[in-house]
Amino acid sequence: MEQFTPTDLYYLITFKCNERCTKCNHWKMNYIEDIQSHLVSRLFDSITSLKNFCIVGGEPLIKKDDILYLSEKLIIKRYELQ
Ligand code: SF4
Repeated sequence: MEQFTPTDLYYLITFKCNERCTKCNHWKMNYIEDIQSHLVSRLFDSITSLKNFCIVGGEPLIKKDDILYLSEKLIIKRYELQ
């Protein structure tokens, strides 16, 4: 069996968005509960091959406290933030 060694992780931090663009359905899915960021941070320990971690949404800045929390975890793990 082949070993699972992902290098990229995209975290859809929230579907919520205040813009409500007509071309987009994300903001219409605001009933979907967001994955808790402390659960996502556990992946930093279990995926040792991780090179890129990207936060997407919705509007990610709605959850700026979660972004700061995850940034701290990544800095502790000695990742570069971009
Ligand atoms: S997620 Fe982007 S495209 Fe969708 S409503 Fe918000 S700003 Fe518009």
